[in-house]
Amino acid sequence: MVPMNILSPARRGIAAAAALSLAGVSLAACSTDSTPADGTNTGQTGETLSVAASFYPIQYLTEAVGGDHVDVTSVTPTNVEPHDYELAPKDVTALSATNLVVYVAGFQPSLDDALAEVSGPTVLELSATVDLVHHDGVAHDHDEDTEDTEEEADHDAAESTDPHFWLDPVRMQAAAQAIETALAQADPDHAADYEANLATLTDTLEGLDADYSNGLAQCERTTFVTAHSAFGYLADRYGLTQASVSGLDPESEPSPSELAAVKKIVEETGTTTIFTEELVSPKTAEALAAETGATTAVLNPIESAPASGDYAGAMTTNLEELRTALSCE
Ligand SMILES: [Zn+2]
Repeated sequence: MVPMNILSPARRGIAAAAALSLAGVSLAACSTDSTPADGTNTGQTGETLSVAASFYPIQYLTEAVGGDHVDVTSVTPTNVEPHDYELAPKDVTALSATNLVVYVAGFQPSLDDALAEVSGPTVLELSATVDLVHHDGVAHDHDEDTEDTEEEADHDAAESTDPHFWLDPVRMQAAAQAIETALAQADPDHAADYEANLATLTDTLEGLDADYSNGLAQCERTTFVTAHSAFGYLADRYGLTQASVSGLDPESEPSPSELAAVKKIVEETGTTTIFTEELVSPKTAEALAAETGATTAVLNPIESAPASGDYAGAMTTNLEELRTALSCE
C-alpha cells in the first residue's frame, strides 16, 4: 500500500473530492487510496465508482467501459420514456451521492435543473462530444399561429438540437471515449482496464456501423416513417430520410395538417411500413397504416433498456426491420 504522503497532488485532489461528495452518506467511492497500510481491507467491496447515467444508452456505455469497477445506475427508470422525465426528490438525493454523472444537456430538463443544484459528483456532459445538430421533425404548425408566446419560443430553443445521438454507432464511439477518459481520471488505478474495455466496446460499435453501411447500401426505398423522430442521426449516417408521426417529442400529438403531410410522404414514396415503438401509443401510426394500406412494425428508439439483450442487440434488430421495410438487398 502506498502511504498517503507520497501520493501525487492530483491523487490527493481526487480523494478529497470523493470525500466531499460523499459527506453524510456511506462511503461507496473508489477508496483504495485510503485503505489502511496494514492491508486489512483487501476485498473489492467499497472500491467501485458510483456512476449515474441519465438513461439507458449512456448506462450501456458506462457499464461496458467500467466493467467490474463501476456501479452504474440509470436516472430514468427502465421502461419509462426518458423525454421530459421528472426527477423525484429521492432521485436528486441519489444523484448527489454518486461520484460521476453522465448525461446530455437539453434532453431531460428536470435533470438539467437537478444538476444545477447538486455539487457532489463530477459531471460529464456529452452534447459537444457527440456533435448534436438540428433535425426537423414533422414541421410544427407555427405558421398557422399568429405569433409564438415567449414560453413557446423558449420551448423551441430547448428543442433546437436533436438529442438522439445514440442511434448513430459512430457518435456512440465518441461518447464511449469521453466516458473512458472520465473514469480513468476518477479512478486511475484501473485506467488500463477501462482502456481495454473501451477497445472491446469500440469493436462492437464499429461492427454495428459496418453492418448498417453494408445492410442499407442497396435498398428499393430510402424513406422510413417512425413514431417519433429519434432516427435523424441514423438517417444522416446511412443516407436515409426519416419522416415521423409526432416529431422529436414522442408525447406531442400531431395536428391534422402534420398527419396529412406524413400521409402524403407515405403515398409519394411507396412506403409499406409505418414503424411504431413500445413506449408510445401506436394508435396514430396504426390509423395512418390503415388509411394508406401499409403495415406496422416496431423500430426501437433504444431510449430504455430492451426487454432482452442490450443496445447492440437492439441495433441489430432495428437494422433487420429497416432492411425489410426498405426492401434492401
Ligand atoms: Zn426520443
